[in-house]
Amino acid sequence: MKSIADRNGEGLNFPLLTVKRTTMTNGNWACFDCRLTVRRPTLRMVAFWRPWVVGSKGNEHVKCPQCKEACRFLGPKITVPPKRDKAAWEKLRTQIMKSKRYWSDRSREQKTKRKHEIEKRLQELGRKPKSSGRDHLIKILQNELAELT
Ligand SMILES: [Zn+2]
Repeated sequence: MKSIADRNGEGLNFPLLTVKRTTMTNGNWACFDCRLTVRRPTLRMVAFWRPWVVGSKGNEHVKCPQCKEACRFLGPKITVPPKRDKAAWEKLRTQIMKSKRYWSDRSREQKTKRKHEIEKRLQELGRKPKSSGRDHLIKILQNELAELT
């Protein structure tokens, strides 16, 4: 919430209610097998700031009212087809899973890239004379590297 408000340029000193009203909305969670949706509060801009959450099951807390399987998050903006329109539902499922795959591939690529940058930087730092600044930076980078692996 804090960072979203920040990025929107709304500042941090706004009363909580104002931030809530401007940033929250209802989002759809879908069960593609039953062609049902469940609506839950979400961030209005969630698909923009965190596109990789679209298609995810979250922590599986939203269950389909019919089959009780975990629903997938669609975000607040996607129009859901009518239940009887099987073809449209299949098309939506394909689109959502394609987007999900794109973002997870991208996130993996970025992690790998960052890992290589850190490894290279650590090698460079290892060749430099010891100093408290150097040692501190090495520690920070090693921690980041550990989090990435
Ligand atoms: Zn279901």
